[in-house]
Amino acid sequence: MNVFRTLEEFPHPWSAETYPTVSVVLPVYNEVESLPALLESIADILIAHQIPYEIICVDDGSDDGSTQLLKQQAQTRTDLRAVILRRNYGQTAAMAAGFNHASGQIIITLDSDLQNDPADIPLLIAKLEEGYDLVSGWRQDRQDAAISRLLPSKAANWLIGRVTGVKLHDYGCSLKAYRAELVADMNLYGELHRFLPALAFIEGARITEIPVRHHARRFGQSKYGIDRTFRVLMDLFTIAFIKKFLTRPMHVFGLLGLAAIAGGVLLGLYLTILKFGMNESIGNRPLLFFVVVLLLAGVQMFSFGLLAELSMRTYHESQGRPIYRVREIVEPTLKP
Ligand code: UDP
Ligand code: MG
Repeated sequence: MNVFRTLEEFPHPWSAETYPTVSVVLPVYNEVESLPALLESIADILIAHQIPYEIICVDDGSDDGSTQLLKQQAQTRTDLRAVILRRNYGQTAAMAAGFNHASGQIIITLDSDLQNDPADIPLLIAKLEEGYDLVSGWRQDRQDAAISRLLPSKAANWLIGRVTGVKLHDYGCSLKAYRAELVADMNLYGELHRFLPALAFIEGARITEIPVRHHARRFGQSKYGIDRTFRVLMDLFTIAFIKKFLTRPMHVFGLLGLAAIAGGVLLGLYLTILKFGMNESIGNRPLLFFVVVLLLAGVQMFSFGLLAELSMRTYHESQGRPIYRVREIVEPTLKP
C-alpha cells in the first residue's frame, strides 16, 4: 500500500518510518473544474519542500464528473487515493472519511475549490513542528460575500470563542494542520468540523493559528448559504454541553434538581403551616402551583442527571475513551 511518492523521490536523512508523512485531506463535492489545478499545485509545493505526502480526496456524492476524474487520477498517479462515498453526506462526514483513510502523521485539510492556497501547507507544517497539535488557518483577507458570509461568520467566531474558550479568529477556515493522533479518536457529527479546535481543546490539545491566503471562488459555487449559520448555532449548543457535562453531568443537574426540590419543600411547609396552623385557604394561591412545579422539575432534573451520568459512562466505556489524555510519558533512566 505504497501511495507515497517517497523513497527515491524524497532524499532525506530520516527513514521512511520516522519521517512525518503528510496526508492532505480534501472533501470534494462537485469541484470538477478546480481539481486538476489543485492536485497539481499541492504536488508541486510538497515535492519542492521534500515533504513525503499523500492526497486523500473524498468524493462526497458529486454528480458533475468529479468522481470519474478522481478515479482516473487515482489510477494514474502515485500520490492520490480517492475515497468515493455512496451519496452526499456533507463536508463534515467527508472530512471524517478522509481522516479514517489517511496514513500520515500529520493531516492537512483544505477545501477543494482553490479558495485555500496549497502554498500555505508548508507554513502550517512548520508551525505544527514548533510543538502544536493543531494549527488553524486564519483568512485575514477573506474573499467571500460581505453580508451573507462575512457578517454571520464574524458573529459566529465571536460566539464560538466565548462558549468554547478557544480564542481563534477564524473557525470556519478549512485549511488546518493536525497531528494524526489528535483526529484519530475524534467523532464528528453535524457541522462539527468547524469545532474541531474546540473538541481538540477539550482533549487538551495545544492550538494556534497563522494567517493564510484566501482566494475568491473561481469555478462552481459555494455549497452553503445563510442557513448554515443556524446549523452552526445548534452545533454550538452541543459543544457547550459536551464541554461542561462530559464527565460529571450529575454535578450540574443533581445540584439544580436538589435546589428545586429544597425550594419546593420549604415553600410547601410554609403553605402547610398556613393551611393547618392558621386555617387559611391555600387552594387558589399561585405559590401552590409554584411548589408543585418546583418539586416536579426538581425530580425531573435529578433523574435526568442520573441518566446523563449513565449515558456518559456508556459513551466513555463503549469506545474505550479514557477521561484523560497523556501527552507523553517519561520513563526512568535505567541504572547500568
Ligand atoms: N463540500 C463537501 N460536501 C458538501 C458540501 C461541501 O464535500 O456537502 C466540500 C466542497 O467541495 C469544498 C468544501 O467542502 O471543498 C467547502 O465547501 P464550499 O467551498 O462550498 O464552502 P465555503 O468555502 O463557501 O464556505
Ligand atoms: Mg469554498
